[in-house]
Amino acid sequence: MRISLGIRKLVVLILVGAIFLLANVWIVVNWLEKVGAVEFAKNVKSEYLTGTAITIILVLLILLVRPGKEVVANSGLLRRCPVCDHFLMVRGKYCAECGSKV
Ligand SMILES: [Zn+2]
Repeated sequence: MRISLGIRKLVVLILVGAIFLLANVWIVVNWLEKVGAVEFAKNVKSEYLTGTAITIILVLLILLVRPGKEVVANSGLLRRCPVCDHFLMVRGKYCAECGSKV
């Protein structure tokens, strides 16, 4: 079963929302740390920025990889019968399930 474009967009929106929510929490934490110890806050900030960068890279990778899989699915490596929707494992002209020409 293929993941629809709508669900994929929703997943990305949830991920972006989660990152922003996390960022807001860390801004408050950073502010609290700056009030106390500036040097400690700098260390936390640099660690937080690294974490954010890794998260963004991961999201971008997901976005890049997912359409890539779709391309593979449509290129002929994983074909489906247009009549019965059966997966065509062998590269033939006819469907093994219903015998329809593909
Ligand atoms: Zn078929």
